[in-house]
Amino acid sequence: MIDTTAAHPPAQRFLRVAIDAPAAVAAATGEHEGLYDYRWHGGPISPGELVVVPFGNRTVVGVVVIVDAVATTDPQRIRDVVGCVRGIAPLSTEWLALASFAARYYHRPLGEVMLPALPVAMRKAANYVLEDEPSSGSTRSASLPAVERATQRAAKTRSATGTEAPASITLNTLQAEALAGIVASLQPDAASRPTLLYGITGSGKTEVYLRAIAEVVAAGRQALVLVPEINLTPQLALTFASRLPGARVASLHSGHAAGRRLHHWMLAHEGTADVLLGTRLAVMASLPRLGLIVVDEEHDASYKQQEGLRYSARDLAVARGKLGRDGRSIPVVLASATPSMETWAHAETGRYRKFALSERAVPEASLPTIRLVPTLRAEAADGLTTTLRDAIADRIARREPVLVFHNRRGYAPVLTCAACGWLSACPRCSVNAVFHKADRQLHCHHCGWQRRVPRACPACGNVDLAAVGRGTQRVEESLRALFPEARIARIDRDSTRRKGVAAGMLDAVHAGELDILVGTQMLAKGHDFRNVTLVCVLDADNALYSHDFRATERLFSNLMQVAGRAGRGGARSHGAEVLIQTRAPEHPLFAALIAHDFERFAASQLAERADAGLPPYSHQAVLRAEASEAAEAIAFLEMARGIGLPLLSEQSSTDVVDLYDPVPMTVARVAHVERAQLLVEARSRRALHVFIDAWLASLGEERVKVRWHIEIDPLEI
Ligand SMILES: [Zn+2]
Ligand SMILES: [Zn+2]
Repeated sequence: MIDTTAAHPPAQRFLRVAIDAPAAVAAATGEHEGLYDYRWHGGPISPGELVVVPFGNRTVVGVVVIVDAVATTDPQRIRDVVGCVRGIAPLSTEWLALASFAARYYHRPLGEVMLPALPVAMRKAANYVLEDEPSSGSTRSASLPAVERATQRAAKTRSATGTEAPASITLNTLQAEALAGIVASLQPDAASRPTLLYGITGSGKTEVYLRAIAEVVAAGRQALVLVPEINLTPQLALTFASRLPGARVASLHSGHAAGRRLHHWMLAHEGTADVLLGTRLAVMASLPRLGLIVVDEEHDASYKQQEGLRYSARDLAVARGKLGRDGRSIPVVLASATPSMETWAHAETGRYRKFALSERAVPEASLPTIRLVPTLRAEAADGLTTTLRDAIADRIARREPVLVFHNRRGYAPVLTCAACGWLSACPRCSVNAVFHKADRQLHCHHCGWQRRVPRACPACGNVDLAAVGRGTQRVEESLRALFPEARIARIDRDSTRRKGVAAGMLDAVHAGELDILVGTQMLAKGHDFRNVTLVCVLDADNALYSHDFRATERLFSNLMQVAGRAGRGGARSHGAEVLIQTRAPEHPLFAALIAHDFERFAASQLAERADAGLPPYSHQAVLRAEASEAAEAIAFLEMARGIGLPLLSEQSSTDVVDLYDPVPMTVARVAHVERAQLLVEARSRRALHVFIDAWLASLGEERVKVRWHIEIDPLEI
């Protein structure tokens, strides 16, 4: 045998690797996709594998996207792969397709989508141990000791899963129909429309999707369940484990430390976990056997990521379902009592299937009576009308806990000087600084600035500073003064900074150890209080006069959710009440709310939006700019608009895409940064994306000092 390899050196092989490079580097190298060429000396390698590569003067982790690529840069300048990661199975073709979709849809480099979707511990090159691999030439193997450690602990999780039989809950007819519909969609030949599981609070949506998940797990597939941030308590994971006997449940959320996050991510990636329960970040988890996606509370704003890749996990979940696995789509279930207008419109046109659960699952549980309590500006210094005080006193006497909802934390939104009109303001932002009485500090809720409350007015020296308006701390104080015997607790972001505090308070309500729980939205989300028969809403009016066209939609859904906490307890809950204080009782939103009629509300919202050409009847994006001077940010956006307008006429899309004038953002300055934005609106989604592709390509060539980004489908504008 003659060895010919010595005479003919092997052909050079190149890999294209996705790297999460800073935007400045990407721009300098002319790289907009976040993909870079490397020379490969090792053996077989496939897309989806992780590699350790040099990048500038650093070593970074990247994802192989193309193998045997034709080099796009000068081969002399292409550097070698340092190491190939062993011990972690390659990311699947489906996962790579999902990442590509997200990168295209949100107009971001692929590397900026892929790498942040992996656990932090996995994307740090320093965490890997490099070893020579005799068969692979100069390429070494890279192993992640943390992964090995994470796989010991897997065994423990397995044994910790529940083995109890599911509670013998009988589904009502509507629940049974919905379940049958979802189960039918799991069949290989089923149509691929997403399903909207629309049901009033307490109608047993969770029961329906839990049973669908049980079917999926029994068929050997995985289920991905997304829940809003606040919902993801250990309690929920335990419920899942106990209701899905034998199923291995993993969870992913930002509350996990790095090691734990890696561990749970690996359980999903290796197919060890049958169910992955997570917040928005879990939508990009690697799930090789994925067979069902559930998005609970699909309308919730926390599904929108507000920085980096500004994605909607709900929308990506729908896209993931459509991209599918092994050539067939994956069923997606969107569950909500108050679906988003986008989802509702799709259900109305038949693009989504809809199952409506219009009865409470506990047969004796009735819907609470919602009553409006008109308030005048002048009355109720402590914010509590006589009607509310009497109702609360009545419930305390009956030992039934009361929830008091007030969606503003702190003691008072602002301190003021009656002598000169001084207002407490954040020196770094264009907002008031909120007075927190517990620590006698002024807090900025936008940038985190804190300062001790001044002894006297900084402007005129007057020592008589007054707290104006009220937050949850002040409401709590008033309630303590009114009901000195009552056991009262407050649940908001300030009172629950320590882990476990929130869960403890919610448990105390369940156990009947609290008379009044006052709090923000935190007390409304998904907690099943069986013994609560009175919910009070102190002030619902702010959102009614907002400039944001989605404000009423959010208010309606918040109030429905808050109202949904009352009267879930069966026979005891008859006479359950929700009292809402408002200065605008005639507002049409309240008429629909009192009637528990989401459909009426949605119909009127959609009619308004159709008239005004707003989403879901148009598609939006915003170009945002940040600079130290407001004028700079606006000037950049003016320039961008100048670049965009000719592109519109080139593409003959002037009639379908609108570029609005640049405006400062509602809170224009945050932490010394001035922010402005330019709205792009299009009647067709395609036209919007075609325009933005061309626009960003031109904008990317401009050398500018301002920081800017584009956001697709913004929730707040
Ligand atoms: Zn003053
Ligand atoms: Zn601030």
